[in-house]
Amino acid sequence: MTLATRSSDIVIVGGGLVGASLAYGLAKRNRRVVLLDAGDAGIRAAHGNFGLVWVQNKGYGLGAYARWSRRAARAWQVFAQDLIDETGVNPMLEQRGGFHLCFDELELSKRQARLESIRVSLDGDYPYQMIERPALAALLPGIGPEVAGASFTEMDGHANPLMLLRALYEACRTRGVTVCGGQQVETIQHRLGGGFAINTRTAQIDAERVVLAAGLGNANLAPQVGLCAPVRPNRGQILITERVERFLQYPTPYVRQTDNGSLQLGDSMEDVGFDNGVTTGVIASIAARAIRCFPALAHVKLVRSWGALRVMSPDGFPVYEASATCPGAFVVTCHSGVTLAPLHAAPIADWIASDTTPDGIDCFGGDRFNMEPVRYEH
Ligand SMILES: Cc1cc2nc3c(=O)[nH]c(=O)nc-3n(C[C@H](O)[C@H](O)[C@H](O)COP(=O)(O)OP(=O)(O)OC[C@H]3O[C@@H](n4cnc5c(N)ncnc54)[C@H](O)[C@@H]3O)c2cc1C
Repeated sequence: MTLATRSSDIVIVGGGLVGASLAYGLAKRNRRVVLLDAGDAGIRAAHGNFGLVWVQNKGYGLGAYARWSRRAARAWQVFAQDLIDETGVNPMLEQRGGFHLCFDELELSKRQARLESIRVSLDGDYPYQMIERPALAALLPGIGPEVAGASFTEMDGHANPLMLLRALYEACRTRGVTVCGGQQVETIQHRLGGGFAINTRTAQIDAERVVLAAGLGNANLAPQVGLCAPVRPNRGQILITERVERFLQYPTPYVRQTDNGSLQLGDSMEDVGFDNGVTTGVIASIAARAIRCFPALAHVKLVRSWGALRVMSPDGFPVYEASATCPGAFVVTCHSGVTLAPLHAAPIADWIASDTTPDGIDCFGGDRFNMEPVRYEH
């Protein structure tokens, strides 16, 4: 078979939210970028997520991650406006804050303890409030009698994740990124003189640098270039209702009202390997919890449900690593690709383009797992 060959400064493997954000950022830095994606048969968290731009509770036990998430949330407004200016496609960011609803006093006090611990780890620069039921009822009309209160941070928000992905792809095309679908990368070779040969079944691409942004595919690709990204799937099931008149001005992780009026109900966390199906029991429990939050939802029709696979590292934090043995190879992977998109398109793109390591990412190297990479079959 004859392979189509081409060359590029940087090849990005994986065209989900992480890969597309990186490609956009690198193209903005005038790099010649080829974005390779396995295509429709691939597993794609980017197509099935909940759309939160979320800081609340992120980084409990690791201040660096709380700081990183906070930095991302603070960059989102400008990032969204840049995408609109560049492409005319609106990722529909709403960022007035977000609530996490609690159902009893114990849950509220545990929540407060966690958020306070994160606030201390960020030297106090972590605005959050605990809101008691009477005040909450004024902010979130229609909450159920079982809701005891909520935590709130003004940094949180939500976007339309599919419009975000579309805006990123539009921006990539405008800025000259070569986007190749249906290209599953099978092998990557580090050349002795430097650079890489990236091989799919039908093409070979030479590049000075290669970035692994293949989500769950990173687990198998990383060891080929001296990296470690032992990510595993974690399933989340999500429900969508018919469109209803707007009643919810703020997102919560259990219920959010999308820009088109439908309600998105989330979500489960299930360790079921690569099964991205849905199950009646989980759908029923997600719906029941949403009705406890907002009883009026009992009268709203469900129209769709799906399962999608999170890209989870063993400790749940991102993996950002430059290969020590194959210089020019990087891995970038995380389970909050919506929230972190502005950072992947800016400081992480800087790092890949010019080796300028951003502050605060040292603790995210894949070598922290200190384990033999595992091959996953799917
Ligand atoms: C249920 C659920 C809810 C979520 N909610 C949120 C949320 O509210 N907020 C938030 O910030 N994040 C959320 N996320 C996470 C977010 O969706 C992911 O962090 C993000 O999509 C990860 O993007 P990714 O590009 O790393 O991976 P993916 O989106 O999975 O993309 C990986 C891409 O790589 C391609 N690929 C894989 N292997 C290869 C290969 N060998 N060659 C070429 N291409 C390959 C695949 O085809 C795929 O397109 C959620 C995820 C799930 C599943």
